[in-house]
Amino acid sequence: MKILALSDVELPAVYSTRIRERFPDAALVISCGDLPYYYLEYVLSALDIPLYYVHGNHVTEITQDDGETRAEPWGAINLHRKVIYDRKLDLALAGIEGSLRYSHKPHQYSQARMWWMVLGLVPGLLLNKLLHGRYLDIFVTHSAPENIQDDTDLPHRGIAAFRWLIKTFKPRLHLHGHVHLYTPIKPWKTRFHQTLVVNAYGFREIPWPLPKDW
Ligand SMILES: [Zn+2]
Repeated sequence: MKILALSDVELPAVYSTRIRERFPDAALVISCGDLPYYYLEYVLSALDIPLYYVHGNHVTEITQDDGETRAEPWGAINLHRKVIYDRKLDLALAGIEGSLRYSHKPHQYSQARMWWMVLGLVPGLLLNKLLHGRYLDIFVTHSAPENIQDDTDLPHRGIAAFRWLIKTFKPRLHLHGHVHLYTPIKPWKTRFHQTLVVNAYGFREIPWPLPKDW
């Protein structure tokens, strides 16, 4: 099976009537944030597979025809501050949304607040180890871990607690977005201890279980 990871920018290869032919082996979609809901809802309904996501730092509230507002895509599963075991796919997932705080808007957090939220995942990770033999398969965040594929400006600086989590709980994969890849020299895939850190900017099709040479 394959994971279709999405983040930050909409691409015509994904937002296409041929999406099923383009991604025939996708068994789940993971969005790392900053994508409009209509885009995620299109992918979800066209592929008809589970879609897990975290919000980025840019979250829009939309008003529906009935006047109600909502700030999440329909039918998708929000991973923020959650540890979820998908029984059907035999996958342990956990996530943290947002970025470092650089203005007075929601979905931005201090490093200390990120630590607090990451530590909140620990009981669920320990339970996974007990029940399923490993702490975590895929860690999903919007921001990058500290000093891995991050940037030096405050909004795009990496998160220290993410780096600690992947070193300590050894997920096979850490998917993030937020850092836009405008030049091919910027790294989008880094091995860190036992974890492959992947920037999902645009889209990435990732084989699962992860091959050793991927
Ligand atoms: Zn972002």
